[in-house]
Amino acid sequence: MSEIEREAMEYDVVIVGGGPAGLSAAIRLKQLDPELSVVLLEKGSEVGAHILSGAVLDTCGLDALIPDWKDKGAPITVPVKKDNFYILGEEGKVRIPNWPMPSLMDNHGKYIVSMGNVCRWMAEQAEELGVEIFPGMACSELVYGDNGEVKGVVAGVFGLEADGSYGPNTEPGMELHGKYVFLAEGVRGSLSKEVIAKYDLSKGKEPQKFGLGMKEIWEIDPAKHREGTVTHTMGWPLGSNAGGGSFIYHLDNNQVYVGFVVHLNYKNPHIYPYMEFQRFKHHPMVAELLAGGKRVAYGARAISEGGYQSMPKMVAPGVALLGCSVGMVNVPRIKGNHNAMLSGKAAAEAAYAAIKADRAGDELTDYETEVRDGAIGKDLKPVRNVKPMWSKWGLTPSLALGGLDMWTNSLFGFSFFGTLGHGKSDAEATGKAADYTPIEYPKPDGKLSFDRLTNVSFSFTNHEESQPAHLKLKDPSVPLKNLETYAGPSQRYCPAGVYEFVEKDGEKQFVINFQNCVHCKTCDIKDPAQNINWTVPQGGDGPNYPNM
Ligand SMILES: Cc1cc2nc3c(=O)[nH]c(=O)nc-3n(C[C@H](O)[C@H](O)[C@H](O)COP(=O)(O)OP(=O)(O)OC[C@H]3O[C@@H](n4cnc5c(N)ncnc54)[C@H](O)[C@@H]3O)c2cc1C
Repeated sequence: MSEIEREAMEYDVVIVGGGPAGLSAAIRLKQLDPELSVVLLEKGSEVGAHILSGAVLDTCGLDALIPDWKDKGAPITVPVKKDNFYILGEEGKVRIPNWPMPSLMDNHGKYIVSMGNVCRWMAEQAEELGVEIFPGMACSELVYGDNGEVKGVVAGVFGLEADGSYGPNTEPGMELHGKYVFLAEGVRGSLSKEVIAKYDLSKGKEPQKFGLGMKEIWEIDPAKHREGTVTHTMGWPLGSNAGGGSFIYHLDNNQVYVGFVVHLNYKNPHIYPYMEFQRFKHHPMVAELLAGGKRVAYGARAISEGGYQSMPKMVAPGVALLGCSVGMVNVPRIKGNHNAMLSGKAAAEAAYAAIKADRAGDELTDYETEVRDGAIGKDLKPVRNVKPMWSKWGLTPSLALGGLDMWTNSLFGFSFFGTLGHGKSDAEATGKAADYTPIEYPKPDGKLSFDRLTNVSFSFTNHEESQPAHLKLKDPSVPLKNLETYAGPSQRYCPAGVYEFVEKDGEKQFVINFQNCVHCKTCDIKDPAQNINWTVPQGGDGPNYPNM
């Protein structure tokens, strides 16, 4: 690509990604010095279009960044009033009372929000401070300097030929150079993946772990709506097939977020996470709540679950990884937005100090120290064994032992278990189809449960069809081998129906319906051969989530 001529623009800091991490970094930089030049690039058609969080927000990150967020009209207005946790059986449920839970699990004092709307509001705050925000700009390449440092990104490439080459109608985009580049791409960022590999940032760390989160927004019967109620469940329908669980958050305006997470370290390749979610809504507790309501939006996104021991080194020359590009979700709390914000703030403070000292293009080690030893580390370290326990011992023992471990960690800073490892990556965890029994999923009824393609239309996703598929196969022969060995798991793990096997002239062919992609990144994570590389499509393409 080096022969392509592009315009270049120079900034102090270039930020990739308009989620809570990137926006917090942008805001903090301008708070520290209004003269700093800061640009933020977002691949969604607008800031918020690709944001899917639950979300129950712990405002500690925002409190540190914009203490007067209430006066500034932040869309954070629904405090949690009720916090329920159930273990489900097929018909019944058992409520786990709040009192045995460590206080870190308590959702009282937190807020039910649309993180998409919170990000839209944060973008307004950033723009008021003078940050240049360009939505619809996908960053597709990194630009390296003479000393091997990251010095910028390429953004805004449009109109590639169908084979991925540059043609007469290709707009080559532009290079945005910075003294520092912040990658705030969220989970499994495509540029972050390149940086982690190039600088070997995961060396000596546990593999990153992931879940697939799927979510619908429902408008329900006002008589059943309980604003401020948070419900989490575990157990049915996943049982011992996979880890995971659900969340049901009553927002305002009779809206409810109904979500389901399946841990991607499942072994049985017949598992169909999307159908597990659909089946879950037929549990009597959920069916009764949703009956008579309507689903108004659908989306999916991977969630990082590796926690403290999986965080890669987060700085390399000229570049810092922020938020879930590192993986900062506190798994038992199912919360990462607060840490994403705190990381953005910390990265900004480190870059500001470096720029004031006339530095550029080096490692922001103070940022890494602050993340590991400051508020983020203190949030993540005490819960570091919860996910490995769940993976090793299953739901019931891990609830008891994980609870005990969180108590001893929170109270005494001590664990009987030390730091447990995660073992295999999620891709490696996938077992062979012949070793597992296929699972029969009930057909969606079109009222509570929906077929996948109908639901995808409620993500409002759109990709210009003339562009090359942004989901790239390293070896095109692998999917058919996967079909034989793993019963073609991409047909099931993709929550948007991107992958299918069709019969043509008596032969199976692998088809990539990239137009359906909701940018969840599950294929990049779970493909057993790691053969699918998720890259960015043209800017502005992808889901158009409303108030997710
Ligand atoms: C189903 C689900 C439920 C969750 N529930 C909660 C919850 O209740 N509470 C909570 O605190 N956390 C929750 N989380 C976790 C939370 O979503 C993450 O911790 C948080 O989103 C991380 O913020 P981020 O800014 O790092 O990344 P993101 O929020 O993912 O933002 C990244 C942004 O970067 C953009 N981007 C990515 N790559 C590029 C590129 N190359 N070029 C341009 N733009 C790019 C994306 O479009 C996106 O807008 C949940 C996550 C999921 C999936």
